[in-house]
Amino acid sequence: MEKALIVIDYSNDFVATDGALTAGEPAQALDSYIAGLIEDFIDQDEYVIIADDLHVLNDPYHPETELFPPHNLKDSDGRHSYGETGQAVKKYLDHKNLYFTDKRRYSAFTGTEVDLRLRERGIKEVWLVGVVTDICILHTAVSAYNLGYQIVVPEAGVASFNEVGHEWALSHFEGTLGAKVIRK
Ligand code: ZN
Repeated sequence: MEKALIVIDYSNDFVATDGALTAGEPAQALDSYIAGLIEDFIDQDEYVIIADDLHVLNDPYHPETELFPPHNLKDSDGRHSYGETGQAVKKYLDHKNLYFTDKRRYSAFTGTEVDLRLRERGIKEVWLVGVVTDICILHTAVSAYNLGYQIVVPEAGVASFNEVGHEWALSHFEGTLGAKVIRK
């Protein structure tokens, strides 16, 4: 295994039209591309990590409680992966090359086994897709940079509810984190 695909917060709450914290159509437009990448990575014996926020309602110890409306609540449909991507996740849930992790912070690396699992497999390159570009993708990219990973961000695989933030984050990945941004 040489690389890993990390699918970040591509859940109904962040993507579906009626999601609690949705990025809407720009996020929905990523679905086939992300689902295809999951298939490709599994087919090529590479690693796939699905990282989704896990919240409980009104958690007094969670900083996001004050910052965002409730989302990705435990056992809710909002936390399930969206659309075709959700189908692909379901299909490979028991596959040895797919790992699902809950996360409690924006970064998929914070408080999770992600770094340990990548190191165990000798993986040095991470592909980041999902939502939103300027929050959870950004924080995950910063963590990956600080841990010494090569970062790839396909523009066709990320979206935000903030177009200015989205563009800024793409240029930050390239210019500051040394990421390879695959332009559409
Ligand atoms: Zn959250």
